[in-house]
Amino acid sequence: MRHRSLSFSLLFVLSGSVAAAAATSVMDESSEAVVIQYPTEPSGVTEQSQESATPQESTQREAGEQPEKPMPKAKSIELDKPVTERDLVAPPESDATEPSAASPVPRSQPKPQPKPQPEAPQTEKPAGHPLQLLGAEVPAGTSTRLAWSPSQHFEGVYSATPVLVVNGAETGPTLCLTAAIHGDELNGIETVRRVMYNLNPQTLKGAVIGVPIVNMQGFHRSSRYLTDRRDLNRHFPGDKNGSSASRIARSFFDEVVVHCNAIVDLHTGSFYRTNLPQLRGDLKNPKVVKLTKGFGSTVVLHSDGAKGTLRRAAVEAGIPTVTLEAGAPMVLDERSVSHSVKGIRTLLNQLGMVSKFRLWGDPEPVYYNSTWQRATTGGIIFSKVELGSTVSKGDLLGTVTNPITNVRKEIRSLYNGRILGMAMNQVVQPGFAAYHIGIQAPEEQISAPEEVTAEAEPAPTEDNTNAGGTQPQETTEEEAVETPQAIDAPPAEERDEASEED
Ligand SMILES: [Zn+2]
Repeated sequence: MRHRSLSFSLLFVLSGSVAAAAATSVMDESSEAVVIQYPTEPSGVTEQSQESATPQESTQREAGEQPEKPMPKAKSIELDKPVTERDLVAPPESDATEPSAASPVPRSQPKPQPKPQPEAPQTEKPAGHPLQLLGAEVPAGTSTRLAWSPSQHFEGVYSATPVLVVNGAETGPTLCLTAAIHGDELNGIETVRRVMYNLNPQTLKGAVIGVPIVNMQGFHRSSRYLTDRRDLNRHFPGDKNGSSASRIARSFFDEVVVHCNAIVDLHTGSFYRTNLPQLRGDLKNPKVVKLTKGFGSTVVLHSDGAKGTLRRAAVEAGIPTVTLEAGAPMVLDERSVSHSVKGIRTLLNQLGMVSKFRLWGDPEPVYYNSTWQRATTGGIIFSKVELGSTVSKGDLLGTVTNPITNVRKEIRSLYNGRILGMAMNQVVQPGFAAYHIGIQAPEEQISAPEEVTAEAEPAPTEDNTNAGGTQPQETTEEEAVETPQAIDAPPAEERDEASEED
């Protein structure tokens, strides 16, 4: 067993919890009503009837060993109710206010959440399934806060990452929202908070799992990377015997990702670049296409996803996943957050999981191709265009002025398209990827965008889709710029390679 700083609750306080767990009359067929077909049942959704709060056996999970004994039930809490940090971090051994003796499976760290959720299921039996996740069972019709921590660590080094769960009273798919895989990308954190804390487990169909900060190491340091300077989002699905990043990725993949029927991975631009709110997904995959259609008025950009991204690894594992990019790192901007929240709520609606949110707008264009235009000289870049601007070939995008020589160079668009991402005003080096231009093209012309993308990549492969004069090597993967490190390079090489970043 892995050590976890999970807080389990003992849970029989609520007769409602028991009722919720006991009710499993409707099986998974009802999930077919959703927009997307899910070929595989989420492993976290048990299909067996629960006679009582002590299931006779645990449902098999796809990954990770399963304890023989029944899982403790996660405490039902109101997610939006503030709790003290002490409650989160250092739960006492037992909670005197709870009749823990009623629990047949006492665990070591009952979580002293302030109050049980008041709206326990009433007369009607909820049809949802208990959701088994992170060593706990979340009864249908309840919400809770669990914790994931990478298994490879020694005490005190990694703080546990909160995992918010709202398990609906009715059946449906499990949608996962992940944010801050890059620790300096803040908009997604706030987006997850707003979405999760406004879900009502009593009316939700299916479950939503929200992980506001996947890369807690980076978040604490305001860094995109893990402490070893690796990019976590280039190490999925990971390897439990691999590098530190690879082990963390594997743990997250096995403990959380495999429980999802669909995933929205939230990101922002990188390195002082900002993105128009946009979805990125592999539009050659029909399930991903369907997912992108659920977001309302949001631009969609085709991209397979760089090797090692959560998105690509999840799709390869059969879980439709999109990246939702919005805004810039290190800042929270309301426009990006509201757009993201609106898009996800629309998705929840489209998936048939909620009904209270209004559908949102007409679909935005889909861009099957995109390219970066770079600064050709070093200096201070000032933009003349804004995010979302439509540009034509020859339009002035911005200028780069050398503060010493006062030489000014213009950057003019080489394409007809739309500004999907751009550098914020800053000092740039020659070659800095400055404007990300989405190019609308017929669907047949889906390019195979080059994955990757490191600006400083020593030997990039040729990208025949980008013939512009400004050597746009990278195209569509999130943030466009990456540390030039090999996936799972030998440890001796790791630190050197990423030396220029953050
Ligand atoms: Zn990112």
